[in-house]
Amino acid sequence: MAGKGNKNAHRKGKESKTLFERIWTLANHRGFVFPSAEIYGGISGLYDLGPLGTKLKNNLVQAWREFFVLKETNPPVYELDGSTILPYEALKASGHLDSFTDPTVSCLKCKKWMRADHLIEDSLGLYVEGMPPEELTRIIRENNLVCPDCGGELSEVTVFNLMLSVKVGPAGGQTAFLRPETAQDIFMDFKRVQQSMRAKLPFGIAQIGKSYRNEISPRQGLMRVREFTQMEIEMFIHPKEIGNHPSFDKVKDIKIRILTREQQEKGETEPVEVTAQESLDKKILPNPYMAYYIAKETIFYQSLGIPYDKFHFRHMMPEETPFYSGGNFDLEVELSIGRKEIVGNAYRTNYDLFNHMKKSGKDLSVSVDGEKVIPEVVEPSFGVERAIYCILEHCYREDDGRGWSWFKFPIKIAPILALVLPLVRREPLMEIAFKTYQTLRENGLDVDYDDRGSIGKRYARADEIGIPFCITIDYDTPKANTVTIRDRDSRKQAVVNKDDLVEIIRKLYTGTIKFDDLVSS
Ligand code: ATP
Repeated sequence: MAGKGNKNAHRKGKESKTLFERIWTLANHRGFVFPSAEIYGGISGLYDLGPLGTKLKNNLVQAWREFFVLKETNPPVYELDGSTILPYEALKASGHLDSFTDPTVSCLKCKKWMRADHLIEDSLGLYVEGMPPEELTRIIRENNLVCPDCGGELSEVTVFNLMLSVKVGPAGGQTAFLRPETAQDIFMDFKRVQQSMRAKLPFGIAQIGKSYRNEISPRQGLMRVREFTQMEIEMFIHPKEIGNHPSFDKVKDIKIRILTREQQEKGETEPVEVTAQESLDKKILPNPYMAYYIAKETIFYQSLGIPYDKFHFRHMMPEETPFYSGGNFDLEVELSIGRKEIVGNAYRTNYDLFNHMKKSGKDLSVSVDGEKVIPEVVEPSFGVERAIYCILEHCYREDDGRGWSWFKFPIKIAPILALVLPLVRREPLMEIAFKTYQTLRENGLDVDYDDRGSIGKRYARADEIGIPFCITIDYDTPKANTVTIRDRDSRKQAVVNKDDLVEIIRKLYTGTIKFDDLVSS
């Protein structure tokens, strides 16, 4: 019953477009993402997620919450939902007011602003992140770099603070900022959470929410935007216990890929592969908390459809690392637009708590056996929008013989789990199909209904937005009470009893059964 579908869908102009452009166009057309306030021309770097993008994001966030928060028992992780507007004093204490900057350069002719390090990277292939402005100016001058848009002369490199300020209250108001990361709420609320949850070290505090950065030149769609969602965990650890993670055994044999500093110095790009345990034995990672998160991230991103050999953890070079850090390791994914960071893992030591204590005058230490302790912190910081783009690119399929491009989203994050369709627009098939759709939804399964167009076209449409299963109500349904389930990936079909459908779809969703179990039974 597999349909012919729309053979030439999305093929027009394909050869002339890059993979990024093709995926970005599809994501726009199919309602995953579009520019915010588009009817007024919008503001660059601000996007709205459409119905499918919202579902993909919600499923991704829920998968993350289950894996990194709800299933964590030792140490436990508590979640909070803090304000996105933070006072001047808080961001002065955290260091963001003084050093949350990027190097910028402008064109003296057309007045375009650019990130100086990105300009050098794009024009010369040199990686210069973290270099001081004078050095960047020197490189620009020595290489005669000019404005990529109009060829105009470039200014000196200066630094630009990335925070967006707001005035709170009437009559000029109080100066505040939209938070540039979710972490600072967590540090400021640390003592409250510890006391209200009667938490003992080690324990974690997680937060999922919006962060804002006034990026100099937003680009590459969702990869560099001005408003984005972060999922961050601050794990608070007794300084004497940093070498002992109570659940490390669960991940010790997980294989991870790391690009070490030594390799980067030699210009090597192929990461080393070690187990989490070996990463500690060989002193590649600074402590078992960092190794624990890197192992868990390795499992998590594969479950989102990003192949194991397409990402690694890069040890940031000294010039890219804050002075207080005990080690930063970015999860970088290989994409058609280059190698991009989607998670930052940082050993933040006790820097943030210490500074907030100093500037606020409030005691944020905890008492352990009568001794005052300022915990050390290991932080994994995940970006949602960058992950969404990575999922779109790594799940995108074309040229596999079916005649249309499609998304192979893993079942648990697919925006729509199944599509119910009558074989033709005739009764009683339409009525049975609609009732089946309602029953599945009433049972908490996120399915959709479609009765427009030929069955083949509807299968194609379902594939194009990555729906894992199609459930067809055909002429046998009224007679034998059976329905046909089509599997997106293999295009195989299985006939099952309609009364078992809710249970079957639920089991396919939870992974308790595989589609092939239905075909052979
Ligand atoms: P970059 O060097 O690319 O600007 P960063 O090192 O400043 O990123 P972090 O401060 O470590 O990023 O933030 C943690 C995560 O938040 C990043 O790994 C990324 O997924 C996400 N993120 C940060 N800035 C942006 C942005 N402008 N747009 C989308 N996601 C972002």
